[in-house]
Amino acid sequence: MAKPLITCRDLSIIYNKGKSNEFRALQNVNTDIYEGEYIILFGASGSGKSTLMYSIQGSLPPGDGTLLIRGDDIYSYPPSERVYFQRYVMGIIFQSFNLIGSLSVLDNVALPMIFCDADKATRNRRAQSLLDRFGVGHVSHKIPSMLSGGQQQRVSVARSMVNDPKILLADEPTGNLDSVSTQQVMDKIDEINTFDRRTIIMVSHNAAHLSYAHRVYYLKDGFVVREVVNPQRKQIKPVREGETIVTELEQLARLFPYDSVDTLRVKSMVNFLTQDYTFSQINRLERTVGHFIKGKIDTDAFIKTLILPTEQGGIEMPEATAKKMAKQADLMIHQADDIRRFRAKKDNTGVFFSQHKLAERLKDHLLGVYRIKLSKDQDTNLVELIADRVTGVSDELEFNNRLMAGIRSRGLALSEGEADEITRYFEKLIAQGVDVSYKS
Ligand code: ADP
Ligand code: MG
Repeated sequence: MAKPLITCRDLSIIYNKGKSNEFRALQNVNTDIYEGEYIILFGASGSGKSTLMYSIQGSLPPGDGTLLIRGDDIYSYPPSERVYFQRYVMGIIFQSFNLIGSLSVLDNVALPMIFCDADKATRNRRAQSLLDRFGVGHVSHKIPSMLSGGQQQRVSVARSMVNDPKILLADEPTGNLDSVSTQQVMDKIDEINTFDRRTIIMVSHNAAHLSYAHRVYYLKDGFVVREVVNPQRKQIKPVREGETIVTELEQLARLFPYDSVDTLRVKSMVNFLTQDYTFSQINRLERTVGHFIKGKIDTDAFIKTLILPTEQGGIEMPEATAKKMAKQADLMIHQADDIRRFRAKKDNTGVFFSQHKLAERLKDHLLGVYRIKLSKDQDTNLVELIADRVTGVSDELEFNNRLMAGIRSRGLALSEGEADEITRYFEKLIAQGVDVSYKS
């Protein structure tokens, strides 16, 4: 097994150490980041995200604990070596672009190459080809202020790549951009990860970005409070059980390790649809539901098989039950598409807005199934809860607890029975809509 590229062990960062305003911005942080990973540092403003990023970048020495990059303590390097490291191992992108206003776009991108051996013509050629690649080659002669924010950020993406760094650091790179430019910059950074295979460490507080990452470290008040694996991406770091958000499918995957994701989904759905059936009925039901989930049979054929006598290969259900079951399964499959859309990197343009819309739609699905009326505050809290659960910010238990918690503590004040039913249904939707292919 490969060793991690970046290791933090019990890392603490202390500002103004020994002074009256001493402040611990990071406390006992432990992270292992592997080569080729896309990592997001996520959390509220002031939680310590930038501090962790600049510490990794070599600008903030640990107060306590250790930080190793490729097994080396970069803070023990002599100054010249540390500068070399920052220039050639790390690339960096800032929220505020940090382009030099008096230089042309081309010169801005070529500038970090000034210390390398290549002559000016070669440096310019390389800068121009990166600008072309990131869609801003046609403005290379302009000064930065003549460009839109989105263009300026793509120029700084080009600049960050000019010395061919192993690791790209980005501190809220889309914080100042509209949704269209945000999507373009996110796609370019994604390409640097998937195509150029560079390690990405990005600071963000936008939940819509989480689907890009392999893993997310959630920070709160200087602590890493949770590490979440994105089940949509094949993992580089070995996954420990219970780290992903797909609890039910994971549990099933442990019980049936050789089954495909499709088969596990069938089991989840059948478990939802049946209670009083025999083993042989359930076996045949699994086969039929499998055909239905994969779209090999339509709703009518599904109902027919459910009603058909056992000796003809059916399940011999009463017609009314069969119809109800088909309706439930159909509904669940369609509603689960919104989970899939929520977790997808692309297919939504107005990134954050449509993410919010999807969470609202998922809320409407739940309310439709359980016919519960909510106040405005409960409604708002449920949308937030859903977004947290689908991104993995909260787990199944927290979701359940918050349904019962008071409205002022961001809960819904539901009864235990109501909370359990909604949780169960929502976990089923997640099982239908989220992948576990990171396992293979
Ligand atoms: P984030 O990037 O998550 O918004 P930061 O890492 O910038 O958070 O800051 C974490 C905490 O450390 C904040 O409370 C901030 O006020 C404090 N902090 C950041 N930089 C300094 C500094 N140079 N001196 C003192 N405190 C700082
Ligand atoms: Mg910050």
